[in-house]
Amino acid sequence: MDPLTAPLVLDAFKLYNEGKTIIQIRNYLNSKGLKSARGGVMNFNNVQHLLHNRRYIGEFKYRDVVVPDGIPAIVTKELFDSVQEKLEKNKKAPARHKAEDDYLLTTKLFCGYCGAYMCGEAGTARNGTVYHYYKCVSVKKKRTECHKKSVRKQWIEDIVVNETMRAINDDKMLDAIVSLVMDLQDRENTNLPLYEQQLYEANIAINNMLNAIQQGVLTKSTKSRLEELEANKEEIEKRIDQEKISNPKVTAEFVRFWLERFRSLDITKKEHKKILIDTFINTIYLFDEKVVIGFNYKNQTRTIQFDDLKKATDKNSSCGSDLDCSSAPSVCPQMTNSRKNLDISRFFLLF
Ligand SMILES: [Zn+2]
Repeated sequence: MDPLTAPLVLDAFKLYNEGKTIIQIRNYLNSKGLKSARGGVMNFNNVQHLLHNRRYIGEFKYRDVVVPDGIPAIVTKELFDSVQEKLEKNKKAPARHKAEDDYLLTTKLFCGYCGAYMCGEAGTARNGTVYHYYKCVSVKKKRTECHKKSVRKQWIEDIVVNETMRAINDDKMLDAIVSLVMDLQDRENTNLPLYEQQLYEANIAINNMLNAIQQGVLTKSTKSRLEELEANKEEIEKRIDQEKISNPKVTAEFVRFWLERFRSLDITKKEHKKILIDTFINTIYLFDEKVVIGFNYKNQTRTIQFDDLKKATDKNSSCGSDLDCSSAPSVCPQMTNSRKNLDISRFFLLF
């Protein structure tokens, strides 16, 4: 339990119980400097997640195992239950936050020029059609000299979703993610790498001893030292086996299976797009001529020319195949012809 954030978590539950909205609580928590799990500002979903989180009544969950009172509680069971009841009731009420929730890139999309968030905004044309945009917050508040142009919501969301889908459908990319997950898993187990290092050192010591013996250095003490080393090595191997049995690893096959399931998502559905973005996207820096997408895993940078994206779109202009339905720039009034090459560089960040 973090003594600094625990009182804020309790406040969040109390405020909701008193009838404050999630938006109000989000603003309160942000004013107190509480950060999301990713280290960013708290958004609507973060607060909603917080209010549903059973950890705060002390429940510890690991995979399918639930341990009540497994960790220190921050919120009483009574308050938690009362909040759950209110959340359930409000779920049925018309969602006041709907507009915010609809902007899938909120909290991940940043202005490439000034680094501010780009926020969802709606505007109505003369003919009554409502357009949705992402706009640099600095431009909106006229805080700086930033001149980032607003972009159409659908256009940038399609690019991000299509790029993510492309990465997931790329077998090489998938291999890279799988091996990274396996690496991370090894690192999480603090004992195993230690034992493996010990085993490595034990093998070196034995080899050195054997070399010495080959070169004719054989005394009673070298022999007993060698036996000692062999026994030590056996002991380490035993510990490694025990460690592996008590902490079974998720297999590479399982991770691959888990990732491959994302390939069957229907990216015409908002909920599925949201799952993709929430799982894979870390940050997006948007410039007028390019966008840099940071995924939640580490790999080499790749650049895709916007012309290539457009060709793929034209080929699939019926949009029968789901993957390459990225909007051409012509549908976006902000994009002029001079910006032919929208290059999408990706850089990959660690989990
Ligand atoms: Zn800006």
